[in-house]
Amino acid sequence: MDNNTRLQYLEAMGIDVWVSKQKAQNEELQSFYEEKVVIDTNSNDKTKSLEDKWSLLQKEVAECVKCTLCNTREQTVFGSGNKNADWMFIGEAPGQNEDVEGKPFLGQVGDLLTEMIRSVGLERDSVYIANILKCKVPNNKKPKVEEIKSCQNYLHQQIQLIQPKIILAVGRIAAQTLLGTNQPLSELRGVTHQFAGIIPLVVIYHPAYLLRSLLEKKKVWQDLQLAIKQVEK
Ligand code: SF4
Repeated sequence: MDNNTRLQYLEAMGIDVWVSKQKAQNEELQSFYEEKVVIDTNSNDKTKSLEDKWSLLQKEVAECVKCTLCNTREQTVFGSGNKNADWMFIGEAPGQNEDVEGKPFLGQVGDLLTEMIRSVGLERDSVYIANILKCKVPNNKKPKVEEIKSCQNYLHQQIQLIQPKIILAVGRIAAQTLLGTNQPLSELRGVTHQFAGIIPLVVIYHPAYLLRSLLEKKKVWQDLQLAIKQVEK
C-alpha cells in the first residue's frame, strides 16, 4: 500500500486529523524551542526592592487571565520556598491538590520530592519549588504550547530574582521546556546542561513517575549527585 492510499485509509478512520495535528504541534514546539531565553543577571533596575518585585509578580500571577487555564483553576500556584535558594526545582504544573492548597508538589508526590531534597542534605524550605505553569491543567493533560508560552515569563522572572546555583528540571515537560528541546528524558538526564547559557541545569525523573517505577530511584540519586558536584564547584 502506498503512502497516499494509507493516508486515505487513515483519513476514512479519522486518524489523519490526529497525524496532521501532531505534526503541526511538533513544528510549533520546535519553533518555540528555538526562541532563546535571556536571563539578565546584571539587571540594574534598582527602583524596586527585591520584596516589591516578588509581591508585584505574585499579584500579577494571581490575577492572570493570559490563557484559558484561568477558567478552570481554583487558584494559581506561584511557587514556594527560599527566595535566596541555591537550588531551584521546577516541575510541570500544579495538580488537583496543589490547585486547592495553592502550593506546589503536595501529597505522595510532594513527600517523595521532599525525600529527594533531604537526600542531598537540604530541607524543603531551603530550596525554591515552582512549576512551568502556574495553573492546573484539567485532567492532568499535557500542557499546550500556547499555555506554556503564555506562562513562561513568570517563571523566567522567578529564576532571575532567585538566580539559583542549580536548576533541577523535574520530569520530561519541565526538562524539554527549559532546555528548548524535544529529546526524550532518558537522553537529557545524566549530564549537566545550561539554562539560558548561564545556570547549570540537571534533569531528574518526576516523583510521580518514580512512584510507579521504583527501580529508577537509583538514577535520580545519581542525577542529584551530579547536581551536588555542580553546586560545590
Ligand atoms: S497558566 Fe499561567 S498564563 Fe495561563 S492563566 Fe495561569 S498564570 Fe496565566
